[in-house]
Amino acid sequence: MALAAKNIPLRCRCGRVSGVAKKIAPHTGFRFTCYCRDCQAFARFLDWPDMLDVAGGTDIFQMPAGRVKLATGKDVVRCLQFSDKVLRWYTECCRTPIGNSAGPRFPVVAITHSFMCHDAEPRDTVLGAPLCRIHELSAVGPLPPNAPPPPTVGLFALRVSKLLFWWLRGLGRPNPLFDEHTNAPLSVPRVITPAERDALAGGIPVRLES
Ligand SMILES: [Zn+2]
Ligand SMILES: [Zn+2]
Repeated sequence: MALAAKNIPLRCRCGRVSGVAKKIAPHTGFRFTCYCRDCQAFARFLDWPDMLDVAGGTDIFQMPAGRVKLATGKDVVRCLQFSDKVLRWYTECCRTPIGNSAGPRFPVVAITHSFMCHDAEPRDTVLGAPLCRIHELSAVGPLPPNAPPPPTVGLFALRVSKLLFWWLRGLGRPNPLFDEHTNAPLSVPRVITPAERDALAGGIPVRLES
């Protein structure tokens, strides 16, 4: 039987940015571990090494954007863009990684574990175990023994059907990271140049000017 869905508080390290992720349960999202270089560069940019597992993986929960609400601190939400179309969000106050998103119409927001507060219960209980790993060729070391399995065709199909369901049900709106009327991002994306990305990927902690 599916676990009852709950509302999970969202909060940056210092507490200025807060909100809630609604109706959270293993079946209401899609949890996975991403080993891509951009996720690693993002963690290094924020000086947040414990966001990554020993092989450089990020624990991510994708969910319908409309179920994520930001209550305070929207003015200090910031955004980075690497080479791809993904926007990576964090808080300026204490540099907590929030997660990532695509454009305002894509119905998904992916929240990193660092922004979710479910202290009373293990993450595996609240969100379910990660369903798969992706981009493992970019891992920076041997995968941890508890790394989730590689994706299967069935999982891809599950993810596509979830996304379609969210989109058809209108669960992607309003997207908390974009203005509801103008579709403008909460903050102008700062584009990371290839040279900056390489420096970050090389493990050098870089503080870029905002
Ligand atoms: Zn903060
Ligand atoms: Zn990634």
